[in-house]
Amino acid sequence: MNEKVIGLLNDARMRELHVISQYMVQHYEWDDTGYSKLAASIKQIAIQEMKHAERLAERILFLGGTPTTKPSDEAKKGLGIAEHLRVNIALEADAINMYNESAKVCAQELDNISKDLFEELLAAEESHLDQFQRTLDHVEKLGDSYVATLID
Ligand code: FE
Ligand code: FE
Repeated sequence: MNEKVIGLLNDARMRELHVISQYMVQHYEWDDTGYSKLAASIKQIAIQEMKHAERLAERILFLGGTPTTKPSDEAKKGLGIAEHLRVNIALEADAINMYNESAKVCAQELDNISKDLFEELLAAEESHLDQFQRTLDHVEKLGDSYVATLID
């Protein structure tokens, strides 16, 4: 049993559990305030993060470890759209750094399956970061007129 790799997988799982609850908060807040397009897109991302948390748990179990159920942090509530997006961008940027580093350590530990898993997650987190950044750019450049298009 490679405790080092299991530790990295569980750190990633804690992070995924945190972003799941963060994105679910945004999903229901944006739904409640009428930003249904934004709500629908964050819901899809939250579901992808749930799949990440599951994949990590499966790998941890396969390696003989115990998947954690603890999120790494509490979700932030009641922020404005731009503020929430900035939170998400920071979370995804952290994940990208962390998973790049974890993939490297897994390769050093000769666990290429875990390395591949981290690389697969990395690709998804990069696309989430890109999506959040593009939305924030629009919100900042176009202001209220863009925010209005997020309602339907
Ligand atoms: Fe993820
Ligand atoms: Fe993500």
